[in-house]
Amino acid sequence: MILRGATLIDGTGAPPLRDRAVVLDDRRIAAVVPDHQARDGAALDLGGLTLLPGLINCHVHLCLSGDADPSRTLSDETYAATVVGAVVHARRTVEAGVTTVRDLGGREYAEIAVRDGVRAGIIAGPRVLCAGRAVCMTGGHGWRMLGRQADGVDDVRKAVREQLRAGADVIKLVATGGVMTPGVDPRAAQLTLDELRAGVDEAHRARRRIAAHAMADEGIAWCLDAGIDTIEHGVFLTEALAARMATQGTALVATLIAPHAIVEGGLAAGIPEFAVKKSSALRERHLESFRLALRAGVAIAAGTDAGTPLNPHGTIVPELALMAAAGLEPLQAIRSATSVAARVLGLESETGAVAPGLVADLIAVEGDPATDLKALDAVRLVIADGRTVLNRL
Ligand SMILES: [Zn+2]
Repeated sequence: MILRGATLIDGTGAPPLRDRAVVLDDRRIAAVVPDHQARDGAALDLGGLTLLPGLINCHVHLCLSGDADPSRTLSDETYAATVVGAVVHARRTVEAGVTTVRDLGGREYAEIAVRDGVRAGIIAGPRVLCAGRAVCMTGGHGWRMLGRQADGVDDVRKAVREQLRAGADVIKLVATGGVMTPGVDPRAAQLTLDELRAGVDEAHRARRRIAAHAMADEGIAWCLDAGIDTIEHGVFLTEALAARMATQGTALVATLIAPHAIVEGGLAAGIPEFAVKKSSALRERHLESFRLALRAGVAIAAGTDAGTPLNPHGTIVPELALMAAAGLEPLQAIRSATSVAARVLGLESETGAVAPGLVADLIAVEGDPATDLKALDAVRLVIADGRTVLNRL
């Protein structure tokens, strides 16, 4: 099949190219050529549309509802209801043009079954990289929702091994407090440096990457000492920490939309008071940290924390818009959700760009996302892993 006549944004940060043809061969991209060079064959006319790589969301929770109080929903609903929700969230995600997600904490490995269902072609969804349960200290952030509590070096090793046994593609540690757990301070370090080191050793020995929920500066510093691959949230970054991240090649997944949505919705929307208070207290500092990271040259990969209050599964445009408002050019914001995200997740030989040899993860949208990111929400075509999952041409 040939996709003809679109303006191409290839995901590398290069400026858009008009009148391109993308030739698909089974699941993969065979060639990208000027349209007049394309040979005849089964073609889809994408004239007037912009073609991009499928987008990548580096931080989601498919098991969380995204309603005003997802922790309550998760504890009140049956496991079967959680599974149904996760399947629906996966479909919504891919139909919004997001063809890859990294799930950083689920319930009883439902998200792993979703990953496998998508892979087998029996349900619609994005490619999913799964962490299984997030490894946290006893009573640490996430313990009630998505966590596997572990204390001491040996227990952390065991907890990581349990996630690997369950089929985890990536490991998640909880290095500091967070917003969504009552009674836990986002400025407090939680897992110790020795525990973080043990987790990183287990993950890397198994050839998996490792993410850490890290808000407080002390916890972030320990993550960098321990060799964590991605810092999630990074709320209390300093110039020195940002410089270290840039030097070590540690990526930031800021999830700016998560506290933003909580503050915007507020108590009126039914969001728990502790979450509103904590988010209000850190939102500005979070943006400042993002700007520090940007200035320091840290690799920034897009992630929304989808599933948290009023932060639904699907589009990642609200996150990209906040990143752009904080100083990222639209094409750079797109890059953070395509080629940079793919590299951060270790998927650069599979996805994240429109180039020969990569998997056909492609979206066509109306309008020009290089000047207006909102155009990314006007999705007309989604091809994920070579399969057409949405066609509104
Ligand atoms: Zn999260």
